[in-house]
Amino acid sequence: MKKIALIGSTGSIGKQTLSVVSRNSDKFEIVSLAGGNNTSEFLEQVKTFKPKVATLVNPVSNLSQYNGTEFFFGEDAFTNAIIDEADIVVVALVGFKGIIAVLDAIKKGKDIALANKESLVVGGALVMELARQKGIKITPIDSEHSAVWQALNFDYNAPFSKIILTASGGAFRDKTLEQMKTLTARDALLHPNWNMGAKITIDCATLVNKAFEVLEAKWLYNTTFDKIDVIIHRESIIHSMVELNDGSVMAQLSYPNMEIPIALALSYPERLKSNVKSLNFAELKNLSFEAVDHERFPCFNLVLDSAKAGALYPAVVNGANEQAVQMFLDGKIAYTDIYKGIYGALMSFSGAHHVHYEDLVEADAYARRYVKEFFGE
Ligand code: MG
Repeated sequence: MKKIALIGSTGSIGKQTLSVVSRNSDKFEIVSLAGGNNTSEFLEQVKTFKPKVATLVNPVSNLSQYNGTEFFFGEDAFTNAIIDEADIVVVALVGFKGIIAVLDAIKKGKDIALANKESLVVGGALVMELARQKGIKITPIDSEHSAVWQALNFDYNAPFSKIILTASGGAFRDKTLEQMKTLTARDALLHPNWNMGAKITIDCATLVNKAFEVLEAKWLYNTTFDKIDVIIHRESIIHSMVELNDGSVMAQLSYPNMEIPIALALSYPERLKSNVKSLNFAELKNLSFEAVDHERFPCFNLVLDSAKAGALYPAVVNGANEQAVQMFLDGKIAYTDIYKGIYGALMSFSGAHHVHYEDLVEADAYARRYVKEFFGE
C-alpha cells in the first residue's frame, strides 16, 4: 500500500487523484487531505477516505462525525497534511503557494507527485537543489512532462537531443487579434480538449501555461532552453515527444485524460488499468501540427524571455499572471490586458538576484501589487 498525502483535494487534479485511488484501493491509501474553500465537498471526501489528518482554509465546527480525523484550519494549514505516515505527497494546489507544500515535503523527506508547475516556474533552482540534496523523487503529473518521462523510460538521466512539448493552442487558438479584445472568461473556459480548473484554462488560452511548461521541463529534465521546442497540436493526442540522439522520436499518445499521468506518478513503473478508451486511429484520421503564432500570443515569448533571464523574473511573471488572470476571471480586465499586466510588472521590476524563498515571496507580492495598481484597483 502506498500512503498518499493529497494537498489540494477539491481542485480538478485533486478530485481525479481521488478517483484513481478509489479504483485502486488495493494499492493506494489516502492518509491526509488538504482542501481549499470548497468546504462541503471536502467534508464529503473526509467521510469517504477517512484520512488521519484533514486541513481546510475556513474553520468548521461540530466535527464529532469525523472520528479518527484530526483537523487543522487556516490559509497555510495544508502543511499539517504532510505527515510522517505519507510515502508520497501529491501537490495539486494551484499557483505560487504550491511551493510552500513542495519545500515542506522535501524538508520532511517525502517523494512528490507534482501537479503544481508554478513551484518549479518560480523556484525551480531552489526546489531541484533541495530535492537533490535530500534524495527526493519528483514525479510529474503534468501530461506533457509525464509523456516526456515515459518516452525516456522513467529515467531523468537518459540522454536525448530534444524535448518537443505539444500544445492544444487553448480556447482562443482560432480567434483574430481583433476578436481577442472582447473575449470573456466564459469564452476562455470552454477549452476545446481538456476539462481543467479555471486558472490553468486561462493560462492555456494565453499560452502562458505552455511557456511555464518549458520552464518546468528545463528543471525536471535538467536541460537547456535550446533543447526544448513547442508545437501546436490541436488534437491533444500526442502529449509530448522526445527526440533521441540518433534522430528517433518517441511520443506518448492517448485521448486527453489526466488519469494516466496521475496514476503513473503514483505507481510507476507499473501501469494500472485506466478508464481511458483505446485510440481509434481510423476515426482520428489526421494529427496536425503548426508553429506558435507569436503575434496573437505574445505572452508566450514574454514569459519565456523572463524564464531565460532567470533569478526573480519568473516569480514576477507568475505573480503578475496570477493577479491578472484572477481579475480577468472576475470580469475586471480584458483578455489582452493580461499581457499588459505581466509586461508592465516585468519592466518595472528591479530586484536582487539571489533567490531565497523570502525573495520569491517578495517578488510575487511586488508583481501582484503592481498589476492591481496598473488596472486601478
Ligand atoms: Mg500540461
